[in-house]
Amino acid sequence: MYLQRLLLAIAVALFAVVVLATEDYYKILGIDKTASDKDVKRAYRTLSKKFHPDKNPNDENAREKFVEIADAYDVLSTSSLRKIYDQYGHDGVEQHRKGGSAGGGRGNDPFDLFSRFFGGGGHFGHAPGARRGPDMEVRAALPLRDFYNGREINFLVEKQQICDSCEGTGSKDREVVTCDRCSGRGMVIQKHMLAPGMFQQVQMACDKCGGQGKQVKNPCPVCAGQRVVKKGVETSASIEPGMGKGTRLVFENEADESPDWVAGDLIVVLDEQEPELGASEEERTDGTFFRRKGKDLFWKEMLSLREAWMGEWTRNVTHLDGHAVALSRKRGEVVQPFSVETVVGEGMPFYSEGHLHDHHEEGEDEPGNLYIEYVVVLPDQMESGMEKEFFALWEKWRKKIGVDLRADSGRPVPLPADEHKDEL
Ligand SMILES: [Zn+2]
Ligand SMILES: [Zn+2]
Repeated sequence: MYLQRLLLAIAVALFAVVVLATEDYYKILGIDKTASDKDVKRAYRTLSKKFHPDKNPNDENAREKFVEIADAYDVLSTSSLRKIYDQYGHDGVEQHRKGGSAGGGRGNDPFDLFSRFFGGGGHFGHAPGARRGPDMEVRAALPLRDFYNGREINFLVEKQQICDSCEGTGSKDREVVTCDRCSGRGMVIQKHMLAPGMFQQVQMACDKCGGQGKQVKNPCPVCAGQRVVKKGVETSASIEPGMGKGTRLVFENEADESPDWVAGDLIVVLDEQEPELGASEEERTDGTFFRRKGKDLFWKEMLSLREAWMGEWTRNVTHLDGHAVALSRKRGEVVQPFSVETVVGEGMPFYSEGHLHDHHEEGEDEPGNLYIEYVVVLPDQMESGMEKEFFALWEKWRKKIGVDLRADSGRPVPLPADEHKDEL
């Protein structure tokens, strides 16, 4: 019975190995065979963070995935192994590893790999002893149109990166030797003579190795032994329709890197750009001048005196995505200056930051409204014939209705001059 169980266990274990081994390394990293080293790194950067067990506690699948990703990266990022893998597949790589001087087996701890890549102890910030680097904030100004439609943005962030060439060791040949001055302690004791025969001992950081205790034999030519380089890193973010201005997009562990710490977070703050007339024709929508307040949009529409007064007009306001919002009045429908029309649902799209509410408020998940404010423009130039005709028309109707301008003005009628007494 015991033996049977054991055999079964072995069979299951073998099966598991076979299943693991058939998963394609390129597939695991989501890249194709032509992927560059950079692509491989990028894929590992993203996936290893996503499936790191620290981020997925008690999730056995994520853990397995994390190990798989590390394995795939280990092979595909080493050009000799990648060549073997491309030609002979998993078996080839295994053979090669077994034949290696390391004595076979998989010598790579996925956490080790992770920490070599990101710096730190192989875990995220809360791992004991791991220091965390500073967070980094960048601002991205976008036109309102992008907040309405959503968009992928790509930008370069100038930041400190672990030197690819030496993998953050600072050494050209990865050879690190113990500092000969401090014997690896990082500290040296200096004697100061205070008086003849009287010494004071002071312990201070070793100046030869900078307190590291270790020294690089041949400094890496790319980073000059600094272990890090400054460079622009292409970053992309997706702006979801309806996101608010001031939204903070957090890219975990994407701030300045260093072998001495776990990188802090890169935070992209979304700003709204001042509207400007579209530089290119297709960007030219009336909506350039929409104003936003929360979920709602505001728009000023000009009407001529005739339109405001007599009605019978239609307008198509081009919205931020190019669709038209039709406004109209029938003959005889008056629009008062500064009156506001509400177009329900034509404001900003609804956007949820992913919070789940226990109680659902009415209209909470609906788009905002569009408020049209009417501005009436009076004609200040008329052909003289037209002006005369209008004036005559007023005169005719004033006399007919008997309008007394003074009485109708609503102001108090002044007393005759002789009855007027000066209050002083
Ligand atoms: Zn370097
Ligand atoms: Zn030293």
